[in-house]
Amino acid sequence: MGLRPNLLTRRAAGVASTTLALLLSTAAVGVTPAAAALAGHAEECATPADTHTDAKVKAGGTAKHDPNELTAAQVRERDADLVAALRERALRNGPEAAGPATMATVTIPVIVHVIQRDSTRAGGNIPDSMITSQINVLNQAYSGATGGAPTAFAFQLQSINRVTNPAWYPIVYGSSAERSMKTSLRQGGKNVLNMYLGELSDDLLGWATFPKRKLDSMDGVVVLGESLPSGTATNYNQGDTGTHEVGHWLNLYHTFQGGCSGSGDSVSDTPAESSPAYQCPTGRDTCSTAGADPIHNFMDYTYDSCMYEFTAGQAARMITAWNAYRAA
Ligand SMILES: [Zn+2]
Repeated sequence: MGLRPNLLTRRAAGVASTTLALLLSTAAVGVTPAAAALAGHAEECATPADTHTDAKVKAGGTAKHDPNELTAAQVRERDADLVAALRERALRNGPEAAGPATMATVTIPVIVHVIQRDSTRAGGNIPDSMITSQINVLNQAYSGATGGAPTAFAFQLQSINRVTNPAWYPIVYGSSAERSMKTSLRQGGKNVLNMYLGELSDDLLGWATFPKRKLDSMDGVVVLGESLPSGTATNYNQGDTGTHEVGHWLNLYHTFQGGCSGSGDSVSDTPAESSPAYQCPTGRDTCSTAGADPIHNFMDYTYDSCMYEFTAGQAARMITAWNAYRAA
């Protein structure tokens, strides 16, 4: 998902940062807003290995690798692969299968892996009630009940798998421990959403893999446990990190992908924006093209309280990608 605004940004905005300090491993020092600094970082750190991954960083963003944003080349590669995957499917199943996206409901089985250091809440032991609330948040968001376009998707919790393993806690993005965790725990086919919850490395709120033609064990979303509804991640504890990461898992880019130029996020009804939006900057309009910035879109970086919608174009992109990559 997004980068949380850093301490300096919040102080400048007059927002109390007491609770925020608890979330920070290192207070950011400097005059450059974290957003700009880390967006720059993303460009520098983007590697081919990040092509199918997307992350969201916590306040204070000390992450060395921030794979949130894709390069233009990575977007071209992914979009070309989507076209190729649709063509492949049409050859296999007939043109109907890859034809116009249909809005029939797809119910996605969800397997939640709670990664814990020990049995304490600080050690990752979040209650089942937060997980069922998260599933409700996903269903509300993807049905359009929160104010956006309805999508084809519904979510059904299959199981909660609690794993106590200090070697996997926190979950470190891109580490061999992450690979070993997912290789050991991942269940189901391409249509099964595996969600890993725990404390995360590098101030991350979450990360997700984009769909690929060939399933691998890394497939899934990783979400900060305390970002679930009623968690302790101030401003990010209504479950929309989960909503955002699942959006990537269903092939959505950030609304600010590509900035003001080109095809942006490859969705025509999300107005272009030059950079991520933070907090809830009502009226923000960073591109000369039509439309104010989509700060209420789940695929931006604003506070959970600010984001409540997907667009019809995003809904179409998701079901098209589902048919290409994840449908049986
Ligand atoms: Zn993201």
